[in-house]
Amino acid sequence: MKVLYDTGWAAPPAAAQPQLTGDVRCDVVVIGGGGGGMAAAIRLAENGTDVVLLESRTLGAGASGRNAGYITNSIAADPELLDHLVAPDRLRALYRYAENAVHFAENTIDKHAIECGHVKTGIVMAAVSKGQLRRAGRIAKVLQKNGAAAEFVDGREAGLPEGFLGGVREKVGGTVNPGQFVLGLRTATIASGVRVYEYTPARDVTDTGDGVTVDTPGGTVHARRALLMTNADNGAFSIAPKNLATPSYTCLLETDPVAPERLDEIGWTSRAPMVSLHMILENHRVTPRGTIVFGTRRVEAGHNPLPERAPSHAVAGDLVRGFRERFPGLGDVGFRSVWGGWISMSGTWMPAAGEASDNVLYSQACNGHGFAQAQYVGHLLADHIGGAPRHPDLDAIWHGRKRFWPSVVNGPALYAGWLADRTLDRLAALTN
Ligand SMILES: Cc1cc2nc3c(=O)[nH]c(=O)nc-3n(C[C@H](O)[C@H](O)[C@H](O)COP(=O)(O)OP(=O)(O)OC[C@H]3O[C@@H](n4cnc5c(N)ncnc54)[C@H](O)[C@@H]3O)c2cc1C
Repeated sequence: MKVLYDTGWAAPPAAAQPQLTGDVRCDVVVIGGGGGGMAAAIRLAENGTDVVLLESRTLGAGASGRNAGYITNSIAADPELLDHLVAPDRLRALYRYAENAVHFAENTIDKHAIECGHVKTGIVMAAVSKGQLRRAGRIAKVLQKNGAAAEFVDGREAGLPEGFLGGVREKVGGTVNPGQFVLGLRTATIASGVRVYEYTPARDVTDTGDGVTVDTPGGTVHARRALLMTNADNGAFSIAPKNLATPSYTCLLETDPVAPERLDEIGWTSRAPMVSLHMILENHRVTPRGTIVFGTRRVEAGHNPLPERAPSHAVAGDLVRGFRERFPGLGDVGFRSVWGGWISMSGTWMPAAGEASDNVLYSQACNGHGFAQAQYVGHLLADHIGGAPRHPDLDAIWHGRKRFWPSVVNGPALYAGWLADRTLDRLAALTN
């Protein structure tokens, strides 16, 4: 099995865009070219704004091109907890925002004719124990009550693999090859007239009162305003709110191709993409090339500035064990590669966007569920920074200048979550 610094989804672009040299001026500078930054830059260009996009590697090289490829209307935070803690109006607004993000991402694929193996299957939050199944029933009710397109399903009727008892089917969303997706969005970004600089990391962002300066190794950008879209790297900037999020490293394992009849034999007749209902989820999906991508479980916390890294042996080994436990009928299937990426976990496990200063807005729409949401937030922030009133969906996650409490999401807490999940797995194996 290859341990990759890149991803197994697609090769990086053949040729990079230029690096920034000297001084440049623009209306808005977008820092970070993931799905969020690209969507923001495209929207700004559409609105006639002179925009510069800075990316420390190539566009899409961060989480947006490395993820599991689920276009989901889920929020990372536990729906049952949200139902108890969040006011009903706000919760409905949050789920409406997440569902509109799905539609936005789907429209983006259509609008730019991006070839990325997009399938609209919905996604199943699948239970692997009786306890998780009871929880699935409660979650389905919470989601329905709050207007999300979701239903409780039986595992056999929904064509889930043996061992997956049933769950909550999100009726919108589906999957893509995210590597191909970001390559397509990169092409659309460059074609939109955005001035793109790759291999150009922003080192410092300063709000001078009448504008923003962004320092890079080869030159400086002077802009009227800036969007900070660097996801897990946001915390590297002194201008970003304190305690905004904990950078967390999460990994995916890809198997060798599995014959369709083998998938039928284990009961995965629907091929529905799944996430488990563990505290720290597992994801399981079939790819268009007939492999299975299986991931997350054990998440490791990091500190800014973040290193470029690959999965550790411990995490890769845990994924292999997890796959064998979850799919005993595929015990002879081998593994092709494993890779990972940085996500940002907010203390509340909720997405956020707000103002770092008068002239700098930020997006923190990740929490491991931000593939569609980061793009949508980028689009909405672009309109807002251009002077439009905040869209109600942006309001649903708007943080303004509010402070963030120190987060309980840290290395020991994430490890404890993993340990609790494995303990419950063992108990379930005894009682299922
Ligand atoms: C393994 C994995 C699996 C996941 N699975 C899913 C999933 O299935 N579904 C889902 O919804 N979400 C998933 N996520 C989360 C999702 O990928 C992210 O929420 C989303 O892509 C975030 O988009 P973004 O544009 O905010 O950030 P990113 O895509 O991370 O983009 C930020 C960009 O900023 C650049 N950057 C950083 N620092 C600087 C700097 N100083 N100067 C310039 N540029 C800089 C980075 O190189 C990067 O390209 C997963 C994430 C990972 C890592």
